[in-house]
Amino acid sequence: MSDNILVGVRVRPLIAREEVDRPALHWQISDTNTITQVDPSNNKVVATPYAFDRVFGSEYGNEDVYAAVAQPIVESALTGFNGTVFAYGQTSSGKTYTMMGDKKNLGIIPLAIQNIFRTIQNTPDREYLIRVSYMEIYNENISDLIAERERRGKSLSVREDTSGSVYVADLKEECVNCEENHWVHKKCSGITGRLKDDKRFMCKRCKKMAVADDSDIEKVYLDGEAIEVVEKFCYLGDTIGAQGGAGAGVMARLLALMRKGEKNRHVGVTNMNERSSRSHSIFRMIIESRERSEEDGVEEAVTVSHLNLVDLAGSENASQSGATGDRLKEGGFINKSLFMLGRVISQLSDGERHVNYRDSKLTRILQLSLGGNARTAIICTITPAAVEQTISTLRFASRAK
Ligand code: ADP
Ligand code: MG
Repeated sequence: MSDNILVGVRVRPLIAREEVDRPALHWQISDTNTITQVDPSNNKVVATPYAFDRVFGSEYGNEDVYAAVAQPIVESALTGFNGTVFAYGQTSSGKTYTMMGDKKNLGIIPLAIQNIFRTIQNTPDREYLIRVSYMEIYNENISDLIAERERRGKSLSVREDTSGSVYVADLKEECVNCEENHWVHKKCSGITGRLKDDKRFMCKRCKKMAVADDSDIEKVYLDGEAIEVVEKFCYLGDTIGAQGGAGAGVMARLLALMRKGEKNRHVGVTNMNERSSRSHSIFRMIIESRERSEEDGVEEAVTVSHLNLVDLAGSENASQSGATGDRLKEGGFINKSLFMLGRVISQLSDGERHVNYRDSKLTRILQLSLGGNARTAIICTITPAAVEQTISTLRFASRAK
């Protein structure tokens, strides 16, 4: 069992449309680590119990799941470690409820946002910069969920920079705390930050230096090519500060981005469920911070980490959802990329030397945030009345340990 991979299982309550049929319940939770398949007619155990870091019965809410499984990942992201939280499970088992929640029960994404902002407000000696991106992988095509309408349908490509790190070209990264200018180096879509002499900029991705025009400081060139001014930003501390009141505004903006992305998610129709998610979505926060420096000209070391909150596509088999044609093809892609993800995670938890990150877009994109020093949590969501699909989900969860 690897300390860097936390696996939780969550059983949701029956929902209204299921209660009508009074389905038999096949799953019993005997303690906070164990889930067991039982015969519903006599409650006898029918198979070896499954054990995980945490098992949540239907009485647990999003906040409990957050505190036990996601919070450790979010807090280590705040101190510089990359991290990823996944929701895995069949369609309608509660993935989106777990990640987004609803108005009354905030899910992991808004709870993480809250957690981050509270920490920032309680850490006045550091300043922070938060950038958000939100993307979707559908049939191995990556699209931007928060880009402007014209750019939203475009399929984005995965690239590698000279240092070997992988990024999604042209993906919008929205700064949530913005005051000064910042620039984007179009070639590699790295962000450049103004150095203290006010004229030079360094692309954080390719490390090349850009220089502002002597006569017009608003024009910045890199390799002789003008680079684009995207928007203004400052370090978070300047905006919300320890006593600052603007924090709520920044938070509202983050939540609005989350909702905008969710609205734009690709939603298909299958026989199994009226609307079922056929795509993976990755909500990413890039957290940068540095110690506040009173002295002019002193550049404190910047800590950067990625926090990915991932709502995976439904894990059911294409055949079981009555899929044909294009839907079957989608099913194939989804299962393939979920299979690849399972393989990568089990390779990591077994400490294998070779990890097959390259075999799917999802694992390529998340490569930096899986393995190494990164921390991962998987929340496997389960429908209480399902048997075959639940076994398949629990097997996936077991492979991750
Ligand atoms: P998925 O994203 O896995 O397809 P959803 O998150 O959309 O599934 O959940 C399906 C339905 O079940 C939704 O109506 C959702 O509100 C409800 N639901 C899921 N999990 C819970 C839970 N833990 N408590 C209450 N309702 C839930
Ligand atoms: Mg969903």
